[in-house]
Amino acid sequence: MTSRLIVLGAGAARVSATTDNTYLVFDDGAAPLLIDCAGSPAHKLYRAGIDPCDLAGVLLTHAHPDHIYGLPALVQHLAQVNYASTLPLYGLGETLHAGQQLLDTLDVNKDFLDYRPFSSQERQRIATRSGYAAYVSPTRHGKPSVGVRIEAGGRVLVYSGDTEPCPALNRLAEGGDILLHECTVNEPAKGHSTPEQVAETAATAAAGRLGLLHYYPWLIDRFDEVQSRIAKIYSGRVTLAREGDEYALG
Ligand SMILES: [Zn+2]
Ligand SMILES: [Zn+2]
Repeated sequence: MTSRLIVLGAGAARVSATTDNTYLVFDDGAAPLLIDCAGSPAHKLYRAGIDPCDLAGVLLTHAHPDHIYGLPALVQHLAQVNYASTLPLYGLGETLHAGQQLLDTLDVNKDFLDYRPFSSQERQRIATRSGYAAYVSPTRHGKPSVGVRIEAGGRVLVYSGDTEPCPALNRLAEGGDILLHECTVNEPAKGHSTPEQVAETAATAAAGRLGLLHYYPWLIDRFDEVQSRIAKIYSGRVTLAREGDEYALG
């Protein structure tokens, strides 16, 4: 089976009728990895053809609500279907602590969860139960945060997480076939990226193609203008990631 990255939501913290918060699942057909956990994760996974019980892990990029608030719902769902395995939760210590508190508050912190904190060093390999490799590097955001690099079938996909431009992300994204990058702001702002900043990162990393996500409605309405702004800096293909989109890795 071809490995694929499926977009479960592509919007920023403020959602709309057509954009949910950004979260993703990488599916190699054997050990899917959920990346961030916004609302209704089990429902979204079933719709993507993935049984939540088959997850090889959940990787949380940072502890802002739009990236972790679905965690209790996922854990509650797994408990209700008599989940019989162990679910690794990957994240920075601060992120996992916030997740743990959320689960404790709602009394859904289960024995089947295996907390696997990683440090803020660059390019840490996240252990998975499959043949693909997932790496994380710290990014620059309001909370301690990471970007994610997945290598599978000789191809590379990188997800920026929430971030302003930073050298660690440039290095993580280097040579990526697909760069999924947040494009939250129109003017430079702390912790997020403008179209021009995304384009700079994509050009510096020599990314094969670029998908924009974690955006507000203005970006959908003005995507032609955004594409022109990016094209002045980055010459690769640029698309707007939408819920249900799949990116094949091979
Ligand atoms: Zn966010
Ligand atoms: Zn954030």
